[in-house]
Amino acid sequence: MRKEKKPSAEKSGNEVCSLKETVGLYRRAVAIWCSEYPKLFLYTGLYTFVKACSPYFSLYFTARLINELAGQRRGEELTKWTVIVLVSAMVLSFLRAVLLRVKETFASIRWMSMGIICSKKLLITDFNLIDNANTYEKLAWVEQSENWGGNGMQRVYWQYERFLEEVFKLLGGIALSVTLFSVRVPETAGTLLFLNHPACPWILLGCMAGAAAINSSVEKTVQRCENQCSELAKQGNRNFFFMREFAFNRKRDLDVRMYRQEEGCIDLFVSNHYFDTKSYFAKAARGIVGILTALQTVLPSLFMGIVYLYVCLKAWAGAFDVGMITQYVGAVTALSGAVSGLFMVAAEAVGNAYYLKGVFRFLDIPNEMYQGSLTVEKRSDRKYEIEFRDVSFRYPGTKAYALRHVSLKFQVGQRLAVVGQNGSGKTTFIKLLCRLYDPTEGMILLNGIDIRKYNYEEYMSVFSVVFQDFQLLSLTLAQNVAAGETYDRELVMDCLQKAGLTEMVEKLPKGIETNIGKDFEEDGVWVSGGEGQKIAIARSLYRDAPFIILDEPTAALDPVAEYEIYSKFNEIVGDRTAVYISHRLSSCRFCDEILVFHEGRMIQQGSHEKLLAARDGKYAQLWVAQAQYYA
Ligand code: ADP
Repeated sequence: MRKEKKPSAEKSGNEVCSLKETVGLYRRAVAIWCSEYPKLFLYTGLYTFVKACSPYFSLYFTARLINELAGQRRGEELTKWTVIVLVSAMVLSFLRAVLLRVKETFASIRWMSMGIICSKKLLITDFNLIDNANTYEKLAWVEQSENWGGNGMQRVYWQYERFLEEVFKLLGGIALSVTLFSVRVPETAGTLLFLNHPACPWILLGCMAGAAAINSSVEKTVQRCENQCSELAKQGNRNFFFMREFAFNRKRDLDVRMYRQEEGCIDLFVSNHYFDTKSYFAKAARGIVGILTALQTVLPSLFMGIVYLYVCLKAWAGAFDVGMITQYVGAVTALSGAVSGLFMVAAEAVGNAYYLKGVFRFLDIPNEMYQGSLTVEKRSDRKYEIEFRDVSFRYPGTKAYALRHVSLKFQVGQRLAVVGQNGSGKTTFIKLLCRLYDPTEGMILLNGIDIRKYNYEEYMSVFSVVFQDFQLLSLTLAQNVAAGETYDRELVMDCLQKAGLTEMVEKLPKGIETNIGKDFEEDGVWVSGGEGQKIAIARSLYRDAPFIILDEPTAALDPVAEYEIYSKFNEIVGDRTAVYISHRLSSCRFCDEILVFHEGRMIQQGSHEKLLAARDGKYAQLWVAQAQYYA
């Protein structure tokens, strides 16, 4: 059984940000919130204003009503104040409720906001960095911060709301309590005349500031303890998300059931004690954190007692009418709450700055690949030529070359097959072609120009790819084919027909409007691996790109479906260039040119007949090896 360790200082939240640094981080975080969700910030501000000011209206009008009751009791005045109290309470409650609804409607997105911001960042991050463990680590840190008590960007939103509320409360409190300090008790008050001493208001304000400062330092201690636990919680959250997904992952489901993997996983999860009563944080909560938090709740009551004493003594001495007691006690209490709240917000902000730093560490990951600006010439004759000029490539962080000295040219309209054993470099070749990585040495050219000089989006629009591990979305079949919300119905049907799916579409309950998967629609359908692969082929055809790349496009198809696809391959691909990857040599025979890869090098090139004629060549060897299974 693994015991949870005490978090080490250097890996955890002992790294405290200065106030200046905190302000800088917050300015940036608020700017992101405002640019991404401006209405949320506007309505939160309005709602907070109404919420914070409402009690003061009530305090002010009720004090007038009580004064009248305790004084002259004039019927007209009493009716006037009663109506004002009721109407103002109704109007403010109504306004508050409406603004709350509006604010919450916009706020519903905030739970997903960081996910959306991170996804946007990931989609513009260089592909080679996505693969990188360092990037993953930084992203995991952001997710962890959000899940660990809503730290990071989430907390900035909550604090914005809290900060505004406290500021409005503070202003309202000052407005309603200023006369408490300025009004003097009459000379007839005898011993209570000491209340006129200028030190009295300062003592009260000093108590208020003291309570607020203690509160804020308690908050800092609690935050530091939370930050110290964040490293451990990161592991815990990773475990938690893995466990949560464990039973729902359709891809993993069969293995889990077959090998009863859940038992080992649950044991591992439980024995880690990340979030149970034996966790470091639970122990801290029972000790210092618990004591300090309890103290935090006692202090306001103590302060309230002092306020009551001061206000009641002044009223008793005849400084003001009894109705004003309600107003002053309410106002000073709110004022003290606001001061305390502002101190807490500041303390919390310093604690949260540590998490924000992590968020920006991820958002600031710089792209390393050169981004060109040339547009790709849109040629009606589709005359495009790709050249690999002495290209070698090593994956980042590795020493071994995945590709070495590859040189070749191919033109539009050709059928090109890339064959070779596993690990020979076929997929790497395609990744370089699609500019997911840049070559370590050498150059790739499109129509004689280095592909790095093209605008990336433009360059990518030249390709359509069917990846081996293609992914479909839980959208309608048509939307999957069009890879978008809107689509050209006829074109979708045409692509589906070319991919051999007409029969399947006829059987679907809603035709091409049927959802793939049941995630969002009860009457959606699960498609088989082979059908999915055909949909992916249809999707690649819908995007009318001059180059179509097929990475093992028929791996999941049965022999009949595979034969169907190949027999009309020319019709499917049309005048496009097809680059076709496979380790099944029989399915490459129809290609004009076959490239044979071995240990990262292109060792042979030619037609099927030519390569087969070279009896000692790799191609002939592989051909014979595969053919004997069928003999
Ligand atoms: P193939 O597609 O022919 O099976 P790959 O192009 O996927 O081969 O792999 C070629 C070589 O590059 C292999 O040695 C493989 O281990 C290595 N490789 C592939 N992907 C990565 C990666 N992301 N990081 C490091 N090495 C990789």
